Amino acid sequence: MSFELTAEQRAIREAVRDFGESEIRPVAKEYNEQGRYPEELRQQAADLDLVAPHIPEAYGGAGMDGVSTVIVTEELWRADPGVGGAIAAADFGTGMILEYGDEWMKEEVLPRVTGGETPIATCISEPAHGSNVAGMETRARKDTAEQSSASPATASQEGDEYVIDGEKMWITNGTVADVYIVMAKTSPEDGHAGITAFLTESDRDGIEAARITNKLGIHAQDTAEIRFDGLRIPAENVVGEVDRGFYQLMEFFAPARADVAGQATGVAQAALDAAVAYASEREQFDQPIAEFQAIRHKLAEMATDIEAARSLAYRAGSAIDSGDTDEATRLASMAKLFASEHAVDVTDEAIQVHGGAGYVDDHPVERYYRDARVTKIYDGTSEIQKNIISEQLL
Ligand SMILES: Cc1cc2nc3c(=O)[nH]c(=O)nc-3n(C[C@H](O)[C@H](O)[C@H](O)COP(=O)(O)OP(=O)(O)OC[C@H]3O[C@@H](n4cnc5c(N)ncnc54)[C@H](O)[C@@H]3O)c2cc1C
Repeated sequence: MSFELTAEQRAIREAVRDFGESEIRPVAKEYNEQGRYPEELRQQAADLDLVAPHIPEAYGGAGMDGVSTVIVTEELWRADPGVGGAIAAADFGTGMILEYGDEWMKEEVLPRVTGGETPIATCISEPAHGSNVAGMETRARKDTAEQSSASPATASQEGDEYVIDGEKMWITNGTVADVYIVMAKTSPEDGHAGITAFLTESDRDGIEAARITNKLGIHAQDTAEIRFDGLRIPAENVVGEVDRGFYQLMEFFAPARADVAGQATGVAQAALDAAVAYASEREQFDQPIAEFQAIRHKLAEMATDIEAARSLAYRAGSAIDSGDTDEATRLASMAKLFASEHAVDVTDEAIQVHGGAGYVDDHPVERYYRDARVTKIYDGTSEIQKNIISEQLL
């Protein structure tokens, strides 16, 4: 087992870091204050192969391995969780299409994401059902050609459509994505074994998306509430198999969680960098505060937590490539749990190193603290990760 990054992985890290420092950092404060989604920066990043980098070259991606993909996210979040995070999140749903979609879906959708034309959104959570995915209430009812003859113009080649009704909550890219994956119950009586994934354009009749504007952090990222009211989708738009959506999702979550571990590692590193710089400049009692052992020990602990989080995140990325689903699930949950919990601790300590100056927005650490917090919540909360990890132990 090698603990070294390859020359290519190191080069990828340098390239993303350069992009982050030259293009993202200078505008990060402004974009987050204005809650501005970084449309043009996402397109610039796409030109550098940094959007959905895991997608094979055949569909416009860079075909990066699991570790490299985590590194790209880590560096984008290190540059800024709001702006860089919006770029990294543009691919949230591509894994489902790549793994389970029909060839026409891959050819139509994936190049639009990798090329920077649009991000994709994945609609799973609902107002009343977040952790309990199987409890979702959104319904997809099959409407056969005869039943839908009133609207023949919308009928698919086979003549069958699904009609979707329901409400989704907290959907990343919900108001900026041209395409969504929508999870809905096709066999409600079967619980988790009755969920199906659908692909839809976001401008179809029956879709209403509203941006959520009162988040604690990641203000440059787009998060939305979406209502589906009689949304008609051709039956050919089922991603994977009918009633297999929950199982497809469970596999989709391992790379997504490794990615969150990368996010958490990136924001924690940004906070440490800021704390080290501030501790070297700030003087108290006629010496830089970095001379006090209490501050030095804090920095040492922060650096150690980050290195451990990074190691787990990269191991999870590597496990995803191995094809061992159980191992990937276990390591991705451990990496997400550890990295997110420590990112919140590290960003908290970075504020402490700044003293009062860390409590206002003159320095980025107050933003990092707010931004880091979400990594403990989405893609399965810390409590859910512990449930998953313990299930494999017992
Ligand atoms: C900024 C942001 C972006 C997001 N993006 C997306 C997205 O793109 N697509 C999407 O579908 N969702 C998205 N989410 C939703 C996210 O995945 C959910 O918020 C998360 O899964 C938790 O669900 P919930 O908010 O309903 O909390 P709840 O499920 O109500 O949980 C509340 C509390 O109860 C605990 N809890 C619940 N069940 C258990 C249990 N069995 N054991 C122990 N503790 C439990 C939780 O850990 C938590 O502490 C996003 C959320 C945020 C904040």
